[in-house]
Amino acid sequence: MAKVAVVGAGFSGLAAAWRLRQLGHQVVVFEKESYPGGLAAGFKADGWDWTLEHHYHHVFLSDRAIKNFAKELELERELFFRRPKTSVYYQNQVFQLDSPTSLLKAPVLDGVTKLKVAATLAGLKLTPEFGWRYLERLTAKEFLLKTMGAKAWQVLWQPLFEDKFGEYATQINAAWFWARIKARTPSLGYFKGGFLNFAFLVMRRLKKEGVRFYLDTSIKSLIRQNQQWLVKTAKSKRDGLMKFDIVLLTLPADQVARLVKTPKTKKLPWQKKLDYLSAVTLVIESDKPFFKDRTYWLNVNDLKFPFLAVVEHTHFISKKYYGNKHIIYVGKYLRSSDQLYKLSAKKLLAWYQPWLKKLSPGFDRSIRSIWRFQAPFAQPVVGTHHSRLLPSIKTPLPGLYWASMQHVYPWDRGTNFAVKLGLEAAETVNLKLKIKN
Ligand SMILES: Cc1cc2nc3c(=O)[nH]c(=O)nc-3n(C[C@H](O)[C@H](O)[C@H](O)COP(=O)(O)OP(=O)(O)OC[C@H]3O[C@@H](n4cnc5c(N)ncnc54)[C@H](O)[C@@H]3O)c2cc1C
Repeated sequence: MAKVAVVGAGFSGLAAAWRLRQLGHQVVVFEKESYPGGLAAGFKADGWDWTLEHHYHHVFLSDRAIKNFAKELELERELFFRRPKTSVYYQNQVFQLDSPTSLLKAPVLDGVTKLKVAATLAGLKLTPEFGWRYLERLTAKEFLLKTMGAKAWQVLWQPLFEDKFGEYATQINAAWFWARIKARTPSLGYFKGGFLNFAFLVMRRLKKEGVRFYLDTSIKSLIRQNQQWLVKTAKSKRDGLMKFDIVLLTLPADQVARLVKTPKTKKLPWQKKLDYLSAVTLVIESDKPFFKDRTYWLNVNDLKFPFLAVVEHTHFISKKYYGNKHIIYVGKYLRSSDQLYKLSAKKLLAWYQPWLKKLSPGFDRSIRSIWRFQAPFAQPVVGTHHSRLLPSIKTPLPGLYWASMQHVYPWDRGTNFAVKLGLEAAETVNLKLKIKN
């Protein structure tokens, strides 16, 4: 039995802690926030019964890892599915686009383009998992122009790539696109009480199994000493030092680089340059709905707009859980150096207001409250041959393991893949320990 520290109580850390404990190890989880859930965590405003994610979240029916994880923990009844409406805004028109029938009816696209789009999407759905190895050699732009044609690229995909990846838009590989299509299902899942509630239930279950949690406790440094890791923690009022045989970090590269104190000469995986985008999300609570047609998710396929999507959460989950108020997210990916990233909620709303008015005239009068959340590390950039850059879970430093969003590939990031990665990291740690003994 080894003494293992898991740094981060996001879904990777929670899943890893669960499996490590099952495998018989002594596990301690450190989390800098006062709650678990990481990027999928949320908050509860006055008058709400359920928590709400800082950034819009749902899972897909195909998300096996998180479904099985909930089942293993006897929490499967916390997850439920329904089918909300997804639409696209293009050239002053909003049209539903979430099924073959809605594609056939979509304006803007001609018949031949619609057939090409349908055939390509069906082909990608049927492409077996190993297919990504071929697809990662091409950029998504090359692939989509070849298969769906210029019109589909211009209307459906170019705005999505440019909004999501900015200057990297044309570099993203076709395997990323495949993974998005392959995993996507029209039915979407959500946890009763919100993802934060689910994370707390997982934490409670893990505690019952003997996992120790230190919330509100940030890891400041890791030093290798006498075959062990010396973990320096900072809690609101006191600092501490603890020793572990194994440390598993579930943080992005730049945070790992700041923690691990090693001789400068060593080449370490987190020093590799892997680009990523940040996200800023505006959350609006209002008296009236934003969309009159019950749209849940609107992709704003118009690059003049300063945001990528408007997501009306209460067209997916009943407003009765949020004091009968309507909840709307406005999402944007950008570089953290962008001036929009630094704006307060009020200033961000003022910036977005003319554009929101175009989508829902008069909506501004019903706004009650606003919040703004940011995620510095939100979306990894995956270019061609990305698999060559992938870090491994076992690092060159003895007893130090690393499993972060940067390890999730060819699938796109997500709580499902965070769980899958966490379980895999736990198995990797266990296997290495077995070989050693
Ligand atoms: C805008 C946006 C929308 C998204 N939408 C979806 C969606 O619809 N569905 C979906 O499934 N996923 C979605 N995701 C992705 C999903 O949230 C992530 O893939 C997943 O939560 C990552 O989990 P993780 O455990 O790997 O990392 P994280 O959640 O980042 O966890 C890392 C944890 O480490 C903690 N930490 C950091 N530094 C320290 C330190 N020094 N000491 C102690 N603790 C530390 C952090 O506080 C955090 O809790 C979205 C993400 C974003 C940004």
